[in-house]
Amino acid sequence: MTTVAIVGCTHAGTFAATSILAEHPDWTVHVFERNGTLSFLSCGIALWVGDHVSDPKKMFYSSPESLAQAGATMHMRTDVTSIDVEGHTLTYRPVDAGEDAPTETLEFDKLVVTTGSRPVIPPIPGIDSRHVLLCKNWDHAIAIKEKAREARSAVVIGSGYIGAEIAEQFSLTGVATTLVDGLDRPLANNFDKQITDQVAAAFEEHGVTLALGQKVTAFRDNDDDTVTVVTEKGEYTAEMAILAVGFLPNTDLLKGQVDMLPNGAIVVDDYMRASAPDVYACGDSATVFYNPTGRHDYIPLATNAVRQGLLVGRNIETPTVKYMGTQATSAVQLYDLSLAASGLTKAGAERRGLTVRETELTEDYRPDFMLTTTPVTSILTWDPETRKVKGGQFCSKADISGAANVISMAIQAGFTIDQLANVDFLFQPNFDKPVYYVGAVAMKAAAEA
Ligand SMILES: Cc1cc2nc3c(=O)[nH]c(=O)nc-3n(C[C@H](O)[C@H](O)[C@H](O)COP(=O)(O)OP(=O)(O)OC[C@H]3O[C@@H](n4cnc5c(N)ncnc54)[C@H](O)[C@@H]3O)c2cc1C
Repeated sequence: MTTVAIVGCTHAGTFAATSILAEHPDWTVHVFERNGTLSFLSCGIALWVGDHVSDPKKMFYSSPESLAQAGATMHMRTDVTSIDVEGHTLTYRPVDAGEDAPTETLEFDKLVVTTGSRPVIPPIPGIDSRHVLLCKNWDHAIAIKEKAREARSAVVIGSGYIGAEIAEQFSLTGVATTLVDGLDRPLANNFDKQITDQVAAAFEEHGVTLALGQKVTAFRDNDDDTVTVVTEKGEYTAEMAILAVGFLPNTDLLKGQVDMLPNGAIVVDDYMRASAPDVYACGDSATVFYNPTGRHDYIPLATNAVRQGLLVGRNIETPTVKYMGTQATSAVQLYDLSLAASGLTKAGAERRGLTVRETELTEDYRPDFMLTTTPVTSILTWDPETRKVKGGQFCSKADISGAANVISMAIQAGFTIDQLANVDFLFQPNFDKPVYYVGAVAMKAAAEA
């Protein structure tokens, strides 16, 4: 009888457990999770703050009971305290028992590391203020929701997807909001300036103070129950501060035992195998194969966690189904702007030492004879040598999310700009013009090349 230990159970752990049990119903699968819940969709936090969630319980798609019913041995509110990869053992103890309590030991045949990621907490003076909240798990969600019921002012630190979404929802619920970032544009790591200028304008129209191009240097608690966020350029006082400056892999337990990227992400092969025998990793604790560069990368997204988790079940006995890699396809809605992207931006390519070209096209998404239409900004990133598609960004008041999925498939399939320009895209005036804007930007790129 094979015994599997799964450490961590949000998305990667939940999908790994269900896929292993589906493939091997006779195996013993132990699941360890330090929280009392599993499968929490953190993407719902900002929506819940803005009262767009029908029932917060629906932000979980699985439960300890359903995994137990599927055959798993569940250890909820249990911390795995050490892992000996070579000896095939781990130790654990209930969270509530306290750090001095004795641990128990489990021997495993196979280990699945799904310990995910933790929010980056920079060593800034005063950051442990009780007014500074994190935004990652269910407990954080409750803390933010409770604070947001009363608080009328907030400083959000970090203008990536998570910070931008929460700042948007605060501003829509009457909270005076300041968005701080060291970079000089919101969503600067996700979109080019032509698009982020539209985002900045939307924030300003909704009264959000943009404090960009300035790093936080200190947090100071005040007597009137507020916190002052001190930056290189100013001071911003509010009833709460939300820290959303990125994530790091939660892999300290494996340090020195398996190969990792410098940031601690466990390097996995096409079958989710780590460098040591019988060890698998997936989700935010692991690397992804990033197709636009053909290299391992760290891109913490639920999309990757789910797909990688499913593959563990298929591959844990015999390597069978290869991971197809990722394009980091993602989207965000801010006010009436839909934003979606897949693959590299020019800045992202430069950060990775690659040369790319970009083609931009702004045009209405459907014909002018329709009673309404609206512009779409499309930016296509492509390799000037091979003409291969490397990325795409879209922004519009129309729903353009599907366009990022099209680019994702084009990158995955190794399409050139010429091939993308010739794809059989539908035309119907409710949806698009005779030349769909994805095809149109590809045609423009091909003409420029
Ligand atoms: C606010 C927010 C919004 C997001 N929105 C999106 C989105 O719209 N689309 C998208 O694709 N992605 C989104 N993401 C990213 C997505 O949530 C993560 O990529 C995903 O949660 C990764 O899942 P995971 O299971 O790998 O890791 P995690 O979610 O980090 O889960 C790891 C689990 O392991 C447990 N654990 C860790 N160490 C131990 C231990 N020693 N013992 C026991 N248990 C342990 C933790 O308690 C945790 O439950 C968002 C993230 C946030 C924070």
